[in-house]
Amino acid sequence: GDKGPFENEPPWDWTLAEVRQAFEKTLRKLPKEFPVKVPLVINDKKVQTQETFSSTNPNRTDQVVGVVASAGEKKAREAVAAAKEAFAAWRDTPPRERAEYLFRAAQAARSRRYELAALQVYEVGKSWKEADGDVCEAIDFLEYYGREMIRLGAPRRMGNVPGEVSHLFYEPRGVAAVVAPWNFPFAISVGMTSAALVTGNTVVYKPASQSPVIGYWLYRIFQEAKLPKGVLNFLPGPGAKIGDFLVTHPDVAMIAFTGSKEVGLRIIERAAKTPPDAHFVKNVVAEMGGKNAIIIDADADLDEAVVHVLHSAFGYQGQKCSACSRLIVLEENYHKLLERLRAAAESLELGPVEDAKNVMGAVIDAKAREKILEYIEIGKREGKVLVERPVEGSNGYFVPLTIFTDIRPEHRLAQEEIFGPVLSVMKVRDFDEALEVANSTQYALTGAVFSRSPENIEKARRRFRVGNLYINRGSTGAIVERHPFGGFKMSGVGSKAGGPDYLLQFMVPRNVAENT
Ligand code: NAP
Repeated sequence: GDKGPFENEPPWDWTLAEVRQAFEKTLRKLPKEFPVKVPLVINDKKVQTQETFSSTNPNRTDQVVGVVASAGEKKAREAVAAAKEAFAAWRDTPPRERAEYLFRAAQAARSRRYELAALQVYEVGKSWKEADGDVCEAIDFLEYYGREMIRLGAPRRMGNVPGEVSHLFYEPRGVAAVVAPWNFPFAISVGMTSAALVTGNTVVYKPASQSPVIGYWLYRIFQEAKLPKGVLNFLPGPGAKIGDFLVTHPDVAMIAFTGSKEVGLRIIERAAKTPPDAHFVKNVVAEMGGKNAIIIDADADLDEAVVHVLHSAFGYQGQKCSACSRLIVLEENYHKLLERLRAAAESLELGPVEDAKNVMGAVIDAKAREKILEYIEIGKREGKVLVERPVEGSNGYFVPLTIFTDIRPEHRLAQEEIFGPVLSVMKVRDFDEALEVANSTQYALTGAVFSRSPENIEKARRRFRVGNLYINRGSTGAIVERHPFGGFKMSGVGSKAGGPDYLLQFMVPRNVAENT
């Protein structure tokens, strides 16, 4: 049937007792199924492998959430072959019909919102609210890209010359490899995969190794939507091994990647090598890291700003590409702001996120913990500690919530993505210097400004050069359609997710002109 206009999936209202109780119940129930056995899925067949890896709860490292089949080159080759085989029929399926699969998958996800969110609390350590936000965003992508494909699926009449009928239309590229991160384990995976599918590509989806159980749910909602066999293949396994294989495979026409700058640049480089017998130049969509700043103007509403800064810096332990990691403060406000920031940071509840009151728990794994602790040591040499609050918990990957002051633009803390709960405060003389400092990294993803000055807000619009700029709100929490999301410079190549240009990257344009 005809779909109404796109609307964002409303997040749960956590002030309602029945919502909290239902979620608690799901949290209690879910671990009874742990460890979840996760297979590969190739051509709709579940495949177990001799080698497996496990996925564990970052807040309780002895809790194994999943035991997961691990693909090597052989299985990766089979998955690409299955996707290639399924391509022609899927390409020729009408766009509107392909969109219907997305709408059905959205319905399947919607009917399991508690479960899909609760799983994220366990597998990747999201707080309740953050976990629910991720599931809502995934549903938004399905509903939005479905409608977008219906819009783009209609051939467009070009020109207006008597005796000629000219049409522009789009076709898929072929087999797409989708390589996803763990930090928005459902939303980003669903976003990239649904975009590839609805445009008519067939997919080999590789989840991040830290979130394969959530990744498996992506397959399951599309299975519930009755996607034809071979159109979506699920391939958990080590990125360093099968990632390289997929990227260079001659039958993979495009790679949709979201993750770190290092891996993104490697994919771009390797995908660019085209053998003499190749039939296409691979297309790479790569969304990478950020080093995002919030500017606090001299006339900013500080009470408002502090709340947003803390949420942007420490929500999900700072593990968001959009997280605020630099706070740029005009000197008039500097001491007043630091006082309030410290007091507010001291009052946040920290601890394992199974407990609803805790806003910040463990980081994703031991490697991340080590890297963040290293940056905290560097920060102690480069600047001064304003806040360092350890997180209490028995056996999780905890790092302290940390705020440094006296950080300067040339410091490593001002330049490198830390991807953890570490915020650096930088003092500037005036708004022009604030903009200069804000722009002085290789990244350009998100940014925010708190100001009451129309003149400075206008300056920021023009000169704070990031993909997503927010005025008088925090730097995180982009919403599908309302805030098309993505950056440039070293933050990525590709057009914005959840926006009107996104699907075009997954297709090739064709034109047919008939002389009549
Ligand atoms: P990552 O380490 O780059 O991993 C991302 C994915 O790439 C994983 O599935 C990983 O597999 C795979 N991979 C690893 N080596 C590969 C290779 N040689 N070839 C192909 N794929 C390979 O990133 P992450 O730690 O998951 O995510 C955090 C990063 O993502 C941060 O930098 C963050 O800023 C960025 N991010 C950006 C956006 C955005 O929209 N711009 C959104 C979210 C996150 P394994 O897990 O098996 O290693």
